Amino acid sequence: MNVLIVEDEKNLAGEIALFLKKENFLCEMAHTGREASEKIAVNLYDFVLLDLGLPDYNGLDLIREAKEINSDVSFIIITARGAVEDRIKGLDLGADDYLPKPFALAELHARIMAVARRKFRIQSPDIGLGEFIMNTSARKLMHGENEVEITKKEFDLLYYLVINRNKVLARHQLYEHIWGNTLDDQYDSNFIDVHIKNIRKKLNNHAPTPWLETVRGVGYRITADS
Ligand code: CA
Repeated sequence: MNVLIVEDEKNLAGEIALFLKKENFLCEMAHTGREASEKIAVNLYDFVLLDLGLPDYNGLDLIREAKEINSDVSFIIITARGAVEDRIKGLDLGADDYLPKPFALAELHARIMAVARRKFRIQSPDIGLGEFIMNTSARKLMHGENEVEITKKEFDLLYYLVINRNKVLARHQLYEHIWGNTLDDQYDSNFIDVHIKNIRKKLNNHAPTPWLETVRGVGYRITADS
């Protein structure tokens, strides 16, 4: 899952990014509203942490802009304690949660995870996947008693597909949510195919994976029941 951190206090933004990276999020930062607006217009994010006190921009406009382009990004508002009116306006505009400053990074993480559970309808940390169990808290993929050896990025890719179960995800979407925006030099459309091929190979050593479907000309989809 990827997060855009919109915060003009660079130290705080950096601290949040460092913390969330350790929790396996992909992070980008924007230190001005203008920069954030440009990024939201062209990139796909799962979450935006939005400081409403930006020098150049009304943070609430960023939520409006995202809704106008039908982005399904979730906003978590960060405000000065006491800025009640802005918080309410933010929630009215469709923000998913808010956190008054100063906050503990662990609480921020817990809030993001709570929003993620609602957004992706994740009911338990153990997600069933055919004959496999994806343990999302230990970040392990199990087949019975056996752990399937997959890389961190392969786990992230499978996880993103499974939380979006029954939706077809395009290669560029998968790339953006797991590796970063598709304007990166490294991106080429075969990249995801190679990763999926490796995942299938590793899993098929344990059990078949008919639930991991290739949708021709579009991308990939997981259809397994939970
Ligand atoms: Ca600020």
